[in-house]
Amino acid sequence: MALRKILTDEDPGLHKKCRPITAFNERLFQLLDDMQETLANADGVGLAAPQVGVLRRAVLVLETNVPEGEEPYVIELINPEIIETEGEQEGAEGCLSVPGEFGVVKRPAKVTVRAQDRNGNFFEVTGEGLTARCFCHETDHLEGIVFTEKCERMLTEEEIQALGGEHGGENDGEETD
Ligand code: ZN
Repeated sequence: MALRKILTDEDPGLHKKCRPITAFNERLFQLLDDMQETLANADGVGLAAPQVGVLRRAVLVLETNVPEGEEPYVIELINPEIIETEGEQEGAEGCLSVPGEFGVVKRPAKVTVRAQDRNGNFFEVTGEGLTARCFCHETDHLEGIVFTEKCERMLTEEEIQALGGEHGGENDGEETD
């Protein structure tokens, strides 16, 4: 495994639509393993392949809604499609590719995704709260959309400070990828 460089918003690759993954091989495993390491190193809750310069439809989302005493775990989503949404949530969202900035984004409260695992097997997974927000944020990345393009407004410096260590984004695991 190796750490990959996380690209920032200015990189044109983050604004391009990504192509489906068709080969479930060693090269994909390497990408996913590297992304896992990169995500853990950045202490984030989600990461999309284009953020590490690969314009393919693969994302990681950290499932943080786990029973007390259990560790959050990473869900690998290859070629993910959002197939069902329910409700609405509004909150601060951040992104590892937009360091230090946060914005208010409306997302569904509950999201079901259909995707493939690293071996190509299809599965469905439902997430709520932060996990639902991450599913949306990460699949947006695959369309070349960064959250700053759909947020209602960016938070001010004071508001970010008020969030303290509790909220944030990909950066601290509280609000999104
Ligand atoms: Zn992001």
